[in-house]
Amino acid sequence: MGATPGQERQAGGTPRAALADLLAGNRRFVSGRPVHGHDVTAAAAASGDQQPYAVVLGCIDSRVPLEAIFDQTFGAICVIRTGGHVLDRAVCGSIEYVVGQLGVPLVMVLGHERCGAVAATVEALRTGQRPGGSLAHLVDEIAPAVTEAGIDDPAVQPLAIRRHVRRTVRILREDDLLAGPVAAGRVAVVGGLYDLATGEVALLDSG
Ligand SMILES: [Zn+2]
Repeated sequence: MGATPGQERQAGGTPRAALADLLAGNRRFVSGRPVHGHDVTAAAAASGDQQPYAVVLGCIDSRVPLEAIFDQTFGAICVIRTGGHVLDRAVCGSIEYVVGQLGVPLVMVLGHERCGAVAATVEALRTGQRPGGSLAHLVDEIAPAVTEAGIDDPAVQPLAIRRHVRRTVRILREDDLLAGPVAAGRVAVVGGLYDLATGEVALLDSG
């Protein structure tokens, strides 16, 4: 008897197995055959101790609901969403908690095409008008990727989106509490890119 799709997870698994499960869920979503509904029965079934197997850091964009695009049920993944998946201490602390206390072996940073936060940063750098309030934090954190991509490059936005994912991955790999488990191979931090139209998640190499 094979495992039911979406129920192949095991606590304390490897980063590789966790990534395979996450991507299998995305394939179910893309194929139009998800197996997980989000009704109260599923919530009740997962109401005991949680044993999530991955944490996904994504953008707040309303078109990128993470549990849906990975076809994950209650209790399966921890989700963090900020504008342009920008890091701050609360985000890093949350990931440190999930990895260190819950034993989650996989962290995925998921960017997406046509990201408004990246577009706003490109605009701010082109005009020299830095936004006020806490919005400035988002722009400041995305700006290095835009600069690396080249502000005058016609394809600056798609290039910066990819660079920003890779940069976020690099920062997390060097995080005080994550660097050790990453170096030991117990935890992987990977980057992905979501296609709004096809629903597909593609892995980005870490270069
Ligand atoms: Zn976005």
